[in-house]
Amino acid sequence: MLPVYRPRELILERGQGARLWDSQGRDYVDFGAGIAVCSLGHCDPDLVAALTAQAGVLWHTSNVFYSEPPLRLAQELVAASRFAERAFLCNSGTEGNEAAIKLVRKWASAQGRAPDRRVIVTFRGSFHGRTLAAVTATAQPKYQEGYEPLPGGFRYVDFNDLDALAAAMATGDVAAVMLEPVQGEGGVMPAAPGFLAGVRALCDAHAALLVLDEIQCGMGRTGLLFAHWHDEVTPDIVTLAKALGGGFPIGALLAGPKVAQVMQFGAHGTTFGGNPLAASVARVALRKLASNEIATNVARQGQALRDGVTDINASLDVFDHVRGRGLMLGAVLKPAFAGRAGEILDHAAAHGLLLLQAGPDVLRFVPALNIRDEEVADGLSRLRVALEAFARAA
Ligand code: PLP
Repeated sequence: MLPVYRPRELILERGQGARLWDSQGRDYVDFGAGIAVCSLGHCDPDLVAALTAQAGVLWHTSNVFYSEPPLRLAQELVAASRFAERAFLCNSGTEGNEAAIKLVRKWASAQGRAPDRRVIVTFRGSFHGRTLAAVTATAQPKYQEGYEPLPGGFRYVDFNDLDALAAAMATGDVAAVMLEPVQGEGGVMPAAPGFLAGVRALCDAHAALLVLDEIQCGMGRTGLLFAHWHDEVTPDIVTLAKALGGGFPIGALLAGPKVAQVMQFGAHGTTFGGNPLAASVARVALRKLASNEIATNVARQGQALRDGVTDINASLDVFDHVRGRGLMLGAVLKPAFAGRAGEILDHAAAHGLLLLQAGPDVLRFVPALNIRDEEVADGLSRLRVALEAFARAA
């Protein structure tokens, strides 16, 4: 493999719920869920049943023939979204965002806007994926360095700064604003109260589209099926992936009335997108993630996790504050521990807890949304021991 990853020195062999076991038989509490993907835990019986039933029937047809699972999934996503008229199914988050960027450009072109008036504004600290257009939308230089020349037509603004956005749109050349309602990779940073509504108003004033990347924060993670429901705004395009397949790769773009008819025959495509296996699993994942049980559990366990981390911090004093929404939480390290999140992750793994980092100085908690009381409690007690070991070594 290209050495683009640096996995921890353990080999995961099997998982159940929010627990994993490695090849030495050691068990781990999983507070990372495969980077906010396994939102129903590992080997959820309903997802396993959907996958195995479909595996014995039909795997792949390509999109030049119909099969039932993607049609049903598209219908169910459109209905669940409360705004979309059409869906495009793909294989990953970056592919969903690539489709969104192309859809914005096609829409602007159909409006008769010249190419230099099809700018997409994104926000510093964002993460939209690794393909060339998505990494250009990602307003973080570390992901872009060395890949120049980057595609043109992107402009970056500070997150949560409506005045800066207004100034960036005043030139009249902006076709869309694209953002994560809760920035994930950039450090678990929620949009400030009123920010999304302010962005929507600016988009309306400048005839620009609002594109929401809910790849990490969507599908129930913040306590509602879509993160933007907290702010009661209506987007034009939403992208999904990660939890949508519960661990089986799939992505989606949802298109509202302004853009649902823009891409016609031949305008875009994918060989694997919406394949029957992925779509069958995603249908069940969507049904379960949209349930009241999940919403209730996210509220309950989100609070328990927040309280638990705050309580640990009362004695160890390593975090400045905890932020986030639902079961998408970030514990921000104090400046004295800047740059040392990786060490904490090592201590956590050594003490049987899988944790993630977000940005240089934030520990990210994105466990399964159906995580149980005892799994949260066990994970927190392992976190305490790991942080004590870190503090002794620090
Ligand atoms: N957008 C957001 C908000 C993400 O968090 C990610 C992945 O972390 C992506 C896009 C890219 O998704 P993928 O890795 O499936 O291409």
